[in-house]
Parts: sequence; structure tokens; C-alpha cells
Amino acid sequence: MFLTISTTGSPERPATDLGFLLHKHPGKTQAFSTSHGTAHVFYPEATAQLCTAALLLEVDPVALVRRGQGKGRGGAPDAALAQYVNDRPYAASSLLAVALSGVFRSALKGRCTARPELAEQARPLRVEIPVLPARGGPELVHRLFDPLGWDLVQAEPVPLDERFPEWGDSRYVRLVLEGELKLADALRQLYVLLPVLDDAKHYWVAPDEVDKLLRAGDGWLAAHPENALISSRYLARHKRLTQDALERLELVRLAEADGSEVEELDNAVDENCDTQERPVPLAVHRRDAILAALRAAGAARVLDLGCGQGQLVQALLRDPAYTEIVGMDVSVRALNLAAKRLRLERMGERQSTRVRLLQGSLAYTDKRLAGYDAAVLSEVIEHLDPERLPALEYAVFGSARPRTVLVTTPNVEYNVRWESLPAGHVRHGDHRFEWTRAEFRAWAGEVARRHGYGVEFVPVGDDDPEVGPPTQMAFFTAADHTDHTDHSTRTGRTDGTDRTPKEGEAA
Ligand code: SAH
Repeated sequence: MFLTISTTGSPERPATDLGFLLHKHPGKTQAFSTSHGTAHVFYPEATAQLCTAALLLEVDPVALVRRGQGKGRGGAPDAALAQYVNDRPYAASSLLAVALSGVFRSALKGRCTARPELAEQARPLRVEIPVLPARGGPELVHRLFDPLGWDLVQAEPVPLDERFPEWGDSRYVRLVLEGELKLADALRQLYVLLPVLDDAKHYWVAPDEVDKLLRAGDGWLAAHPENALISSRYLARHKRLTQDALERLELVRLAEADGSEVEELDNAVDENCDTQERPVPLAVHRRDAILAALRAAGAARVLDLGCGQGQLVQALLRDPAYTEIVGMDVSVRALNLAAKRLRLERMGERQSTRVRLLQGSLAYTDKRLAGYDAAVLSEVIEHLDPERLPALEYAVFGSARPRTVLVTTPNVEYNVRWESLPAGHVRHGDHRFEWTRAEFRAWAGEVARRHGYGVEFVPVGDDDPEVGPPTQMAFFTAADHTDHTDHSTRTGRTDGTDRTPKEGEAA
């Protein structure tokens, strides 16, 4: 694995400044041990006019030594290396990206300790990777790099074997990029796009991979026309993580478009259950609609049943109006992630008295759930087998019996509007059913009748004139409840919904 970065310069702006930018002295050859082998950094050329830094990742030292690589080969190390990489397709470029981020960590972050001003400047750069695994070929290389401000993007297919051109091309290309960019921007693009082209990630894809992707994609990924493909491949095609990334990128893009603060928006959204959604933040609409409905109901003590990874619990915690928040889920894994997200371990005493996570199943009555103002079931019912629904119905409306119950579920009629969803498919592999608006209304109406609740329906997301909204919400209010709510809260904006609960609906 081999990559070179070159820059040109003049006596006033010497090319050897590259050494400051990379935090690696041009006069030295340095070796770093990485989790996949040894990374060497050296400068084949270092003058004021032209300076080239090379990163060589030695994945399999024995093989390299056999080929004489260890002795140093002067000017053209790539020929032998091309052979080496071709011989070993498993030694893929995602490893090079990992090495890049380890060895050039500060440069990637845009920090230059010795000469801070250098990091801020774009300069003429030339990046060359003689042998780059590229699933999707030169065409995809162009789709990925062309929008990123390079003057030249060259991707030449590497033949399988030069002696036998009739064998055709390998899955490798020789990549050359030239243009005037900040070094940090170039490195962050490579850090993301090398594994994307490789499409065979060699390390575990953890939930914080999304954060890494967003950090490395800062300033270029949100508006990139291929951001869906990039996110999906970078995250090893993990659907939930990809969707999380796309929703967050969409918010970044919107924020970039109207110049507002990205940070705040960025924290507001996370993941949700539908995996086939367009990159519009439907999860955000849903959370806003739920928060508005809870506010309108004047709830202070709230259950989030089937809380998943705790995004709603987190949003509720930010609002002091909620004095007691309980997240319940059947999945221990989801609860562990929720605890991590909320930083339960490190939470101050005052906050921690407001929140609790419980493991439990909605298919059983549970005394711990009695006596709350409101219960939310956001994208949960469709995860239960239909024959378990009566049990859920009794556990929530018969036994726990909060004053307000909010239930959201996908509207299956809307599925024809999801571009990527083949006809007749549900949005998530774990959905046991998806209902039309009429089916949801029929179920909710019966539940309300049997348990003495009133119910109204709230569209969430873009309410299509033909097929309705992507998400449907039922807003139940117990009929036996005496309304102590401050009615001034009932006129609040209900984001993503067209409903403000009416006076006296609970009577
Ligand atoms: N409410 C979250 C998560 C929805 S995903 C959101 O809106 O994003 C559905 C969640 O329901 C999953 O976390 C799943 O573990 C949980 N779930 C499924 N069946 C359940 C049951 N019988 N009891 C409690 N939780 C259940």
C-alpha cells in the first residue's frame, strides 16, 4: 500500500512546508507501528520547488522483505509494490486509510503546531496512489472525486497482468489527483473515500463510526451528490448506521444552506427504525411531533415504551418540564446503547433522578408502568406479531393507563413514495406489518372504545394528498381524566403535524 502527496513551491513559499503540515521532517525516514503493520513515512524528494511525502504501509513484512523492499529502492518503489498488492487483494486500502489517520492525525485535523497559518492555506497538491482497489472502477472514482474541487482526477485501470493484456483489467486503478486544496481537506477525503472504493472494511463497524464519518466528511460530504453511496459503503452497508448518517448529513446540508449553527442541529437527530427512508430527516419530524403532542397534553411524567437507543429520552431530558422520564425496551442491547448515549454513569444527581431505563416487554402487564401522565410508543407496534397486539393493548391501555398515549407507526400507503423501496416491501426487516391509514384508524378506534379513551390522528412528515403522510400518529386521551392542563400550552406549534388538540376532547 503506497501513497504519495506532493506539492510545488517557490523560495518564498517552499514546498518543504509540507513537512510542517504533515508533522514529519523531510530529512528523516520514520516508521510507525499500526494495528495492521508498519507504516513508513519518507520523502523521495524535498526541495523548495518540489516536495513529495510517501506513506508506505507494510502489511506483510515477510513478503516485503522477500521482495527486497526493506533495502530501499530509490526512485520507483511502486512497480514492485503494485505486484505485491495485486498478489494480495486482502491487503486493502481501508488499511491505508487507517494508517493515514494514525500517522497524519494532526494534519487530518487541520492542525499545524509549528506554523498554524499553513494549515489554513490551500496549496497545489498532487496525490498519487499507484494501486488502489476500486470496486466500481474508474467511473466510480470520478463520481467520488470529481465534485471535490480537484483540477485533475485520473483513474487508469491497472491490467491484470501486463504481459497478457487480453486478460483485461484488475479491480485496481492508478489514482492521480491534482488541484489547489488544503492538505487537511485532501486527507479527510482520502480517509473516507479509500475504504469506500475498497468496499471491504477490515475493522469492526461500531456505532461511533458514524461520528467518525461525519467528522471526516466535515465541509464536503453533506453536499456531495454521492453521499448516500459513500455513507453506505463506509459503514459497511449497515442500514441503520447509514440512515443515521444520512439524516445527520441532511441536517448539516440544510444548516449549511441557511448558514445556521450546525452543532445544535447535529445533536438533535439520530437514528430511527425505518431503514429505507429517503435521506430526509423523518425521525426529526417524528420526534418534533411527539414532543409537541406531549407539550400539548401537559405531561410531566413520561414513559417511552420501546425506547430503543434512547433518542427521545435524551430529547425529553433537555426540557425541564419533564420531571420523570422512563425508557423501557425489551432489548438489553438497545438499553445499553441508550445508557451510553445518555451518559447515565456520569450524570449528575439531579438529572439522574429524572431518568430511568427499564428492561421489560410490552407483551406483559407491568406494575412499574402505572401512574404516568403519558406513554409514547414510537415505531414500536409494528415490531410485534399481530397476535401479541391485544396483550400490548391491555398492558398499556388497561393496566398502565396513562392519561395520554401517543402511538406512531409507518403508513404503508406512503411506501410507493420511497424511491428505493421495491413494491410490496416493508420499510424494515423487523416490521411484522405495516398498516394503511384506514387499518391504523380501525385498530386505534377499537382500542379507544374498549378502554375509554378518545383518539385523534396526526399526520407526521409530508402529508401527501394521495397516499397520506409517511408516519401516522394516534393521540389517545383517557376519557375519565379531569383536565388540569394549562390550556395556553395547547396552542403551541405542532411541528410536522396539522393538529392542535381541541378543548374538551378529553371529556
Ligand atoms: N422508539 C424508538 C425505537 C423504535 S424501534 C424510535 O422511535 O426510534 C422498536 C423498538 O421496540 C426496538 O428498540 C425494540 O427492541 C422494541 N420492542 C420490540 N418489541 C418490544 C416489546 N415486546 N416490548 C418492548 N419493546 C419492544
